[in-house]
Amino acid sequence: MENTTICHACGRTMDGAFRYCPWCGKASADTGAVAEQMDRVFERLAVMQREDAYARFDRMELALGCLERELSQMVAVTRSA
Ligand SMILES: [Zn+2]
Repeated sequence: MENTTICHACGRTMDGAFRYCPWCGKASADTGAVAEQMDRVFERLAVMQREDAYARFDRMELALGCLERELSQMVAVTRSA
């Protein structure tokens, strides 16, 4: 087995000459399929980064809300003093 490849769909090794994976039946990875797979990975990464940014905004908004409340309390204290 000098020419083996890994199935891009199921991850199992197969003969590099096979055009279809004997385990899951998917076409073996050619450059087009790999590029497509990479595109999907990067797409998912972009979504994850966007979600992370939204989560950060939420935390910032929460922190700003707390700060605003503390500031108004401070203002109320200094006014009553
Ligand atoms: Zn497979």
